[in-house]
Amino acid sequence: MEKPHFLDHDLSSYRQLFKEWGLPAYRADQVSQWVYKAGVHDPEQMSNLSRELRQELFLKFDWSLPEILSRLDSQDGSSKLLLKSKKGHVIESVILRYDGRTSLCVSSQVGCKLACDFCQTGKLGFVRNLSRHEILSQFYLANQLLKAEGLRVTHVVFMGMGEPLDNYDNAVAAANVMMAEDGFFLSARHVTLSSSGLAPQIEKLITDCRAALALSLHAARDDLRTELMPINRRYDLARLKEALLKYQKETGRKITIEYILIKGKNCGLREAKDLVRFLHGLRTKVNLIPFNAHPGMPYERPSDEEIRTFQKYLADRSIPAPVRYSKGLDVSGACGQLAAKHAEQIHAKPERKRVVASTVQAAILTENS
Ligand code: SF4
Repeated sequence: MEKPHFLDHDLSSYRQLFKEWGLPAYRADQVSQWVYKAGVHDPEQMSNLSRELRQELFLKFDWSLPEILSRLDSQDGSSKLLLKSKKGHVIESVILRYDGRTSLCVSSQVGCKLACDFCQTGKLGFVRNLSRHEILSQFYLANQLLKAEGLRVTHVVFMGMGEPLDNYDNAVAAANVMMAEDGFFLSARHVTLSSSGLAPQIEKLITDCRAALALSLHAARDDLRTELMPINRRYDLARLKEALLKYQKETGRKITIEYILIKGKNCGLREAKDLVRFLHGLRTKVNLIPFNAHPGMPYERPSDEEIRTFQKYLADRSIPAPVRYSKGLDVSGACGQLAAKHAEQIHAKPERKRVVASTVQAAILTENS
């Protein structure tokens, strides 16, 4: 039988488990403190526990973290981590360092079902959902690496591989542990769940999770959005807006809108007008992300002039929309690229070799707050 992983439990479930095992409740509190407050995941180091209990804990739980397959440090302060899960799948996380804060981009799935046309991860197809502890392990591991620099993760964005709301239970559970007082205790404003537009799940977040919401929009006209993001066939813009309005009415939270600018596709005057129309009635913060072009991908980055014109159209209508740039482009670009490269090496399938797209995610993270 598989042992429970130490990150699959929080204070209350540790208490429950310890009770079932006939261990006193205060011991559960001590273990939870070590795990969540001290960042210790080796029972041997839990110095206020008896030797017998430390041994017992060692046997009862799975204390493993993913293996680091590679770490690439960019000149701009980001680090891309390629991790191998216990089940052998490759997961990607990105650490982004800024003055005064450190963001972590976590993956929620191996691959993705949604097949957005501009996305590297989408091209890999879907393999499986990550469990709650596999998502939290990325956070745990990043904190361990950052400790040596005197830093810790202050912000988390679920914008790595996968659609977090398509792995709803695990992603929400992990986000809730990140924010919980007896968990990692990050501010709810500093944990962001992103979605490509799963309308029913966005509505469900109203009651399930206090984390911030980011929507990957990228087009505000149905035909164009469906072309770029097939999920729009299932939840079109009208349905999406209904969900966003409901979410905002109930939570009062501002929604971040991510919009990749792709030359000749979604950043002309017509598309700017579509966007203004879609945003009407919503309180949002818009991030414009110039597409990160790659050979083999049919899309290109617009010119600076085109970007400025699009931005100005929004600004003139009182919609501030800062331009964000991808970090870590010198170390395999945006989220999904590194894992995709690895997949190429493993499988060496010719069609994979042609895929060198980029996702929006890493760019988004440059200004998560
Ligand atoms: S952009 Fe996000 S939702 Fe779309 S295919 Fe890529 S990982 Fe999936």
